[in-house]
Amino acid sequence: MARGDGRLTHDLLPGESPPQDACGVFGVWAPGEEVAKLTYFGLYALQHRGQESAGIAASDGHRLLVYKDMGLVSQVFDEASLGSLKGHLAIGHCRYSTTGGSTWENAQPTLGGTDDATVALAHNGNLTNSSELRDLLLERHGDAFARELGGELWRGNTTDTALVTALLADDPDRSLEATALDVLPRLKGAFCFVFMDEQTLYAARDRHGIRPLVLGRLERGWVVASESAALATIGASVIREVQPGELIAIDQDGLRSHRFAEADPKGCVFEYVYLARPDATIAGRSVHEARVEMGRRLAMEHSVEADLVIPVPESGTPAAIGYAEASGIPYGQGFVKNAYVGRTFIQPSQTLRQLGIRLKLNALETVIRGKRLVVVDDSIVRGNTQRAQIRMLREAGAAEIHVRISSPPVQWPCFYGIDFATRAELIATGLKVEEIRASIGADSLGYIGEDAMIEATGQPRARLCTACFTGDYPIELPDSSLLGKQFLEVLPGLESQAPGGLDIEGVGTGVSGGAADALSRP
Ligand code: SF4
Repeated sequence: MARGDGRLTHDLLPGESPPQDACGVFGVWAPGEEVAKLTYFGLYALQHRGQESAGIAASDGHRLLVYKDMGLVSQVFDEASLGSLKGHLAIGHCRYSTTGGSTWENAQPTLGGTDDATVALAHNGNLTNSSELRDLLLERHGDAFARELGGELWRGNTTDTALVTALLADDPDRSLEATALDVLPRLKGAFCFVFMDEQTLYAARDRHGIRPLVLGRLERGWVVASESAALATIGASVIREVQPGELIAIDQDGLRSHRFAEADPKGCVFEYVYLARPDATIAGRSVHEARVEMGRRLAMEHSVEADLVIPVPESGTPAAIGYAEASGIPYGQGFVKNAYVGRTFIQPSQTLRQLGIRLKLNALETVIRGKRLVVVDDSIVRGNTQRAQIRMLREAGAAEIHVRISSPPVQWPCFYGIDFATRAELIATGLKVEEIRASIGADSLGYIGEDAMIEATGQPRARLCTACFTGDYPIELPDSSLLGKQFLEVLPGLESQAPGGLDIEGVGTGVSGGAADALSRP
């Protein structure tokens, strides 16, 4: 599918938004360095993981400041704002919303605590026991806990991250490290946290290690980031992954590692298929290599006589290379991507909107005309993108179009930090492969098998989450009424607490964008 690369993406194709990456997190502890700028460039490298809002918190050891806003990293920060974020430690976040709507109040890093003991928190993932955490705060502080605690919840933040921030700031008599070791084992679901107080940088990863988080070294400091590419971008070397169930603390006393839960790895297989950058390495496996191997396996499972293999750029490229290599069919570029069209807040006119996919991709007619094509993409969500691409290729003179997909049919929603369409909207929920082929207008359609995809990752099946393909969720899910993007906005104790009140018009449990309705609908 065409990768979502900016706000305009959804307006171009309102009926087809790609899976939205969870979020990107970054943290640095480096005395003598311009940590806000390091964080800015680190977030830039992680921009593909979240494009709705961005923020940085920095501390000089005495004062912690947070700057955040809606938009891409390059739109939120300039020299002046980065210059105001002084200090020797910083954390950063770029967000795509999973729990809680896309609003300024929900942007991160979140901020909690008192003048003496502050916590700023950045989160990648999605918790599955947020209602239990809210109940814990209710138990401790009563019905008006948001008012009593102040901070993010009172400011109108409706995310699971705000609940964790409140819990981390809930015991001013203990160190943040001690409180974290009490709070982290209570959390269920997927989380990679990067957080800080005035002196110390922390990083924590859930016991299943669903989302990636790596630790790196600068000459004069330490770095943590969602993907290794962010370390390379700022000249840091990779030391190792933050282990599932591990809390790391970094300050002037050095690095301390604590285990807060027993590791039970279930890494997200979709990181290998689509989410992570191709230059990332996850659990020792190069993501690019995994994708090329998926393409090779796809060619073995779904061979076809054809003249040219073309990728849907950029996400289909490595698998197309692998398909061409294994099939012996030449590889070429059949699409040209309009790389910068998504990177704007300017809304397209109605006329432009009708062009849909053409604003993002053009077909290279001289390459395509008269050819039997194999078109390789990473996944199909609703099918609208593929239908539009196939129409474009036929108009450009393609003789035959054989679509090959380097992941199995996506049939189930993700509750661990990726926002797919609801189950009813996923084309593979209601249709068989042959029906999907007819619906998108291809001459043939082949998906890679589940086993081949898993083998290409180099990981044992038991250490992976494959739930969006299999419906086999490795972390227990709560009742469907306690799932969904906006469910915290309608829970007692959390609705409309901000002084200005929240805009919750039209919001109910299971509105689209989350996945609550996905389990109950056909
Ligand atoms: S459900 Fe899919 S996207 Fe979500 S964590 Fe599991 S494999 Fe990844």
